[in-house]
Amino acid sequence: MAKINKCSFCGRTEHEVNLLIYGIDGYICDECAEQAMNIIKETRASKGADKKLENLPTPMEIKAYLDKYVIGQDAAKIALSVAVYNHYKRLNHRGETDDVELEKSNIIMVGSTGTGKTLLARTIAKMLLVPFAIVDATVLTEAGYVGEDVESLLARLLQAADGDVKLAEKGIVFIDEIDKIARKGDNPSITRDVSGEGVQQGLLKLLEGSIVNVPPQGGRKHPEQQFIQVDTRNILFICGGAFDGIEKRIAQRLNTHVVGFDAARNVAKIDKSNMMQYIAPMDLKSFGLIPEIIGRLPILTHLEPLDRKALRSILTEPKNSIVKQYKKMFEIDGVKLTFQEEVLDYVVDKAIEFSLGARGLRSLIEVIMMKPMFEVPSTDLKEFVVTLDFARQQVENANMAVLKESTEDK
Ligand code: ADP
Repeated sequence: MAKINKCSFCGRTEHEVNLLIYGIDGYICDECAEQAMNIIKETRASKGADKKLENLPTPMEIKAYLDKYVIGQDAAKIALSVAVYNHYKRLNHRGETDDVELEKSNIIMVGSTGTGKTLLARTIAKMLLVPFAIVDATVLTEAGYVGEDVESLLARLLQAADGDVKLAEKGIVFIDEIDKIARKGDNPSITRDVSGEGVQQGLLKLLEGSIVNVPPQGGRKHPEQQFIQVDTRNILFICGGAFDGIEKRIAQRLNTHVVGFDAARNVAKIDKSNMMQYIAPMDLKSFGLIPEIIGRLPILTHLEPLDRKALRSILTEPKNSIVKQYKKMFEIDGVKLTFQEEVLDYVVDKAIEFSLGARGLRSLIEVIMMKPMFEVPSTDLKEFVVTLDFARQQVENANMAVLKESTEDK
């Protein structure tokens, strides 16, 4: 009679299980293998939860890393680097018997769209030693309305931590477009402010640090599912928003406050082309963030508008700049790609002319490169030079309306 193989762990025969994996002198069935995997995961998690983060990068090292990918924006980079470094320090010294408790400092970054807020967040995520999630505040609504509950942003963090709650509780959340949940008017009682103040109140609970019941899948679609309890005390929150029109409020505040003896001199010193640098918490309040939220975001930093020089650098300098990416793509096909310097200046001019900002740079380069991307792989060219004439022609042929739309969508 043929020998019947059995799982060396549970003893079931190969006919009783889906899969039997063979070892040198033993077997394991699929179910036992899965159980073993879970035991490994749990053990790792419980060990990892209290493990100190080793070899922390210093704030300067964090900033140096950001510098490789993001042009300018020093104020925001420094604020972020310090916050992330302090976050690690707090985690490492958590629970030590000492009467000085290190409180976390959540951050808010204010800057026009397309100046690099999300890029900063994504870049920092790449070097982080803790789980990180990016969420858009526009999808959040007050509980009971169509959209996602505020708790769903913790579900994202849990996903980033592979479901490991202890790890997620050390994580960092980037909330984009926080300005979109500003209070719509001074009298919210006329219609319910479903996506404004209600959401801010919900967020406050998370920012303050509390135990939050998180639906594992992030939605209310499966009422039967078990909630997971997440403690948000040690989660670092970074918020970003364009706060369109806030410059006017800053200007108003500066004008009304600058009175008295030294007034004339102070007014003269104000750089009117970049009001964002004078932003203060009270401007966020007059924009419609509730004071409690502002109080929980003690670090307020701003991003500079991108000038011609910055746009020009964005094309070529970052480690994965658009120009470097295109060169790489051609190189894979054995073609050396070069852009004449004038082409890059022209692209910057067009991005400014059409108010496309940094996002427009990519769209413009894409328009210029479409034809060669299509044709060159079918030729035996070893080199392709993008000349100013060629670039001009491609941009002029392209439908600028389409170009504009494609940038707005992003
Ligand atoms: P925001 O979140 O502020 O609206 P993004 O970070 O999404 O803007 O920027 C859009 C794109 O523009 C980025 O993907 C990047 O290619 C480019 N960009 C914007 N600002 C910078 C910058 N300071 N340095 C390098 N690239 C930038």
